[in-house]
Formats: sequence, structure tokens, C-alpha cells
Amino acid sequence: MAAEARALVTGAGRGIGAAIAKRLAKQGHAIILNYRSNHEAAKSVAEEIEKDGGEAILCPFDVADRDSSQAAIDKLLADDPRPINIIVNNAGIVRDTPFPAMGWEDWQAVTRTTIDGFYNVTQPLIMQMIKGRWGRIINLSSVSALKGNRGQVNYSTAKASLIGAARSLAMELAKRKVTVNVVAPGLIDTEMVSEVPEFVEKEMIPMRRKGQPEEVAALVGFLASKEAAYITGQVIGIDGGLGA
Ligand code: NDP
Repeated sequence: MAAEARALVTGAGRGIGAAIAKRLAKQGHAIILNYRSNHEAAKSVAEEIEKDGGEAILCPFDVADRDSSQAAIDKLLADDPRPINIIVNNAGIVRDTPFPAMGWEDWQAVTRTTIDGFYNVTQPLIMQMIKGRWGRIINLSSVSALKGNRGQVNYSTAKASLIGAARSLAMELAKRKVTVNVVAPGLIDTEMVSEVPEFVEKEMIPMRRKGQPEEVAALVGFLASKEAAYITGQVIGIDGGLGA
């Protein structure tokens, strides 16, 4: 493993992304914390990492916006010669509504954040990763992509696309020692699911509880480690049995 590898985590200001950033920092990586607008939340994640002896910089940009993403990534590469060899495509949003009522804006917001976000962040960094002959790309999908969910046609579509992207890219990059995998969480205890009614947890999840962001982060941490070198093109569920 490139000991000096930096890790870019999108949507790292709170929730699962924040837990992943902290985990990867503990594993010795300098962290680039991307987020969209909640500066205070991201700043406190960076401070926590630094307090624990790690390294973190803030890098706000909208992953759905190609020009802003490209400009931010160009600056990251210009400012610091160390490679960015870990990318966690975690930024995501929901705009749930039954399909007959789903407006174009709800469709666009969700698919652009996830599908374009993957391209806008991953593609500009891929050549330096290939040249470095080591890398880890981890996409945050969802159980919703695997089994569907009412009111989430936009979200399921977007999250399923990350699986296709990972499988094809894994094949392209395998011989360069760059792995590409997908993590598919069930219901995880973050702001994103704060309005999900309690009966879902009690009646639908076999483990009768939501997952914790740190549990997802531990899985991502393993996939980012050198021990996971032979795992690529895989989708790994973490859902308390919800997707079983
Ligand atoms: P949260 O809503 O808690 O946090 C989302 C993070 O993504 C925030 O930091 C937010 O930034 C950032 N973000 C959103 N849109 C953009 C954008 N366009 N550009 C840059 N950053 C953006 O989400 P979770 O932590 O719950 O989810 C993280 C990922 O895991 C998502 O992809 C989600 O779909 C997926 N997931 C979550 C599940 C859950 O139950 N929570 C289940 C399955 C999958 P800001 O704070 O600035 O708005």
C-alpha cells in the first residue's frame, strides 16, 4: 500500500461519510473532506481528526457540478504532490416520492448527485491512481438498489448505477492494483433516515435496529486496506439482514 496515500471522502461532513473519514484517518491516511454546504459540521470532523493526531483538509464542492468538481480536484493535485489513491464516493441525497408524482427536479437532483458525482470525482483522479499502481475506489450504494423500495425509483436507479460503474471499472483497473467495490447499507442511523418511522426498524430489519455509521466505516476501512487487495468488483451489503 502507498503509506502516504491520501483519501478523498465525498459527503464527509456528517453521517456515514464523517465516520468513514475518521476511520481512514485512524488507518494513517491524510483525509480530504468534501461536503456541499454545511461548513461547521465538516470543520468539526476535521478538528476531531486533527485532535487524534491525523491530518484533514476541507474541500467543499458540489459533486453534481462538473466544473466545480474539476476545479477543486485540479487545486488538490496542484497544492500537494502526494497521490490521492483512495476515493470514497459517499455523497448522496434522497428525494423520496411515489413515481407518478415524481417531478423532473426530484429525478435530476438524486441521479445527478450520485451518477454524475461518481464521474466528476473519480474520472479526473483515475490517471494518477493508475500511474501510482495502487488504489481503492469505494462507492456507497444502498439496499434500495438491490431490492427496490417504494418511493425511491430515482434513488434506486442512481444507486444501482454505482454498481454497474464499479463492476466495469474494476475490470479495467484490476491489473493496476486498483480495486473498485461497492458497499450497500441498509438503514443507518443518520439525518438522512431521521424521518423513517420506527416500525420499519422494528418490523422489517431482522436485527431490529438501525446500523451505526461506524459499522459502515469499519467495512469501508477494510476495503481500503492492503488486506483487501484481492477483492474487486464486489457489492457488500451491511444491513442487519434487511437485504437477505
Ligand atoms: P447524510 O444526509 O447524513 O449526509 C450526506 C452528506 O453528503 C453531507 O455531508 C452532505 O453535505 C453531502 N452531500 C450531499 N449532496 C452533496 C453534493 N452534491 N456534493 C457534495 N456533498 C454532498 O447522509 P448519510 O450519511 O446517511 O449517507 C451517506 C451515503 O450513504 C449516501 O450516499 C446515502 O445515499 C448512502 N446510504 C445511506 C443510508 C442510510 O440509511 N443513512 C442507507 C444506504 C445508503 P452537506 O452537509 O454540506 O449538505
